[in-house]
Amino acid sequence: MTNPSENLYAAREPIFPKRVYGKFRNLKWVVMLVTLGIYYITPWIRWDRGPNLPDQAVLVDLAGRRFYFFWIEIWPHEFYFVAGLLIMAGLGLFLFTSALGRVWCGYTCPQTVWTDLFILVERWIEGDRNARLRLHRANWSFAKARLRVTKWVVWALIALATGGAWVFYFADAPTLAAQFLSLSAPYVAWVTVGILAATTFVFGGFMREQVCIYMCPWPRIQGAMMDDDTLTVAYRDWRGEPRGKARDSTAGDCVDCMACVNVCPMGIDIRDGQQMECITCAL
Ligand code: SF4
Repeated sequence: MTNPSENLYAAREPIFPKRVYGKFRNLKWVVMLVTLGIYYITPWIRWDRGPNLPDQAVLVDLAGRRFYFFWIEIWPHEFYFVAGLLIMAGLGLFLFTSALGRVWCGYTCPQTVWTDLFILVERWIEGDRNARLRLHRANWSFAKARLRVTKWVVWALIALATGGAWVFYFADAPTLAAQFLSLSAPYVAWVTVGILAATTFVFGGFMREQVCIYMCPWPRIQGAMMDDDTLTVAYRDWRGEPRGKARDSTAGDCVDCMACVNVCPMGIDIRDGQQMECITCAL
């Protein structure tokens, strides 16, 4: 039983993942480009359906109670098609997780993709791990404030673009964009963009792995689909321990170089005896 005096809240430890290189990282950059490209560009694709019908390829027309997806038009009483697609997507997710481990978390989950993008911006403005560590420990100065504000402004622009792209799926994108520019967009559009921009900014910029650890149900479900043979990026103590120099024939495989700890975006530190499974690095 939990001791009532025990503090169940652990303050977030800042994490400064070091940049990594390699084929899986390159694959992750490609996946990021493709997924973000699909998300931002799709509402702008036009699709000629004839007179008096919207020419937006993907459109959730709430007023007209229709969902347009390229050549497909779904009416409310046909929504079971969408339900069926969602069930198939869920089963596909289970299949990929069982066969390949946490590929969803590592490559395609929106939380991963946007966090990765925000870290990219952070690294671009503040430098790699060591520079960011130095900046974090430094006292506030004009130089530190300038870097921090620049980063937050770029994050805010990305967050705004993210919230903005979402509402374009629910209205004719060029018309709504013109309304935003002339400040005549509907109230609900402003509120939706505001909420999504704020959550993107906070989740991608500040909460990051906290969303995975505390808010997301998926890691709990995945535990039921994995065994010792599942492909995962994880520290396996039976293989790594006892740590030591590579030439020591009695030592395990871990040479204690700290490379995995320094690049881990989840902040996992195996020196603390943590044997947690790495969630999002997909190295
Ligand atoms: S744990 Fe949840 S939020 Fe985190 S990457 Fe996986 S699915 Fe996404």
